[in-house]
Amino acid sequence: MGELKNTFSWSFSAANDFEECRRRRYWSKYGMWGGWDSHAPELAQKAYQLNKMDNIYSLRGTAAEMAVMCALRHLQDGEEVTVDAIYQKAARPYLNKCWKESKEKQWRINAKRHCCLREHYYNEWDAQAEKEQTVRAMDHIKMCITNFIERVWPRLTTVKRGDELVIAQPDQGDPEHFTYNGIKIYSIPDYGYHREHQVHIHDWKSGRVRAEHREQLCLYGLWAHTKLDVPPESILAYDEYLAEGKVAVEQLSAGHLDEVRGRIDESVMDMAEYLLDGDIQRNMPLAREEWDLAPDTQICRRCNFFELCRKEIEGE
Ligand code: SF4
Repeated sequence: MGELKNTFSWSFSAANDFEECRRRRYWSKYGMWGGWDSHAPELAQKAYQLNKMDNIYSLRGTAAEMAVMCALRHLQDGEEVTVDAIYQKAARPYLNKCWKESKEKQWRINAKRHCCLREHYYNEWDAQAEKEQTVRAMDHIKMCITNFIERVWPRLTTVKRGDELVIAQPDQGDPEHFTYNGIKIYSIPDYGYHREHQVHIHDWKSGRVRAEHREQLCLYGLWAHTKLDVPPESILAYDEYLAEGKVAVEQLSAGHLDEVRGRIDESVMDMAEYLLDGDIQRNMPLAREEWDLAPDTQICRRCNFFELCRKEIEGE
């Protein structure tokens, strides 16, 4: 296999990282590069490991997504489902596996394959807090499953498996993406299907309603328009807030897609300022010191890369 190239790419999470903290973007895109190799410099290996780190919210979100997809498949097959049975089948084994790997520090062997929870790594919990968090995560996921069965599934009963969109997920190699102005744009909706002449896209959200999620739906619209050649007006996108039992729907239009193109253009231009000669093709970062630390160091306490920035933050 030829040498991997660190190509410039864009996604909402990359843009959000960059906006919140330039240095975080540096670590997650450039500082970690090659760190999967045991012969890489120690700093790159550490940045790679920290970049792979999960936290209780991301873990809970993934478990909830796995659970609702499991519920969906059973329901599509005409089976009776219960919240407890779905939790036991899809969410619990995943949570237990991740917890064990994290507690036993198995990520030291392979940071990509084994879970490391930030709360364990940075000793954020005592025994009591850990117990409470476990119960809270379980209740939260069960609430997501309940709302999916009661509120989302009734809207999906007529979807045929053959009408579902093929969407490459992160555990399936290179995740779903499209090209815009020569730039690789990652856009990974959770679920979608064709219905008559429309495309419907759903994102499972286990957290709270946030205004920026609307922009993400517009990005999914641009993905569907580019990859599936669907007119914007034929795309409907849904944020399914599973814990709260709410849904936010966007009927897309050409204006929505222009809006998201504008957001990408502006963000890419800002990111290019941190590259040598502003050249996104070469994608060579400026020196690490040029990537500013977070303006508000409060956010550093919940950042995976805290260990790498600590000395600078604390002025040592
Ligand atoms: S620890 Fe703070 S300065 Fe460092 S990457 Fe994270 S948010 Fe940015």
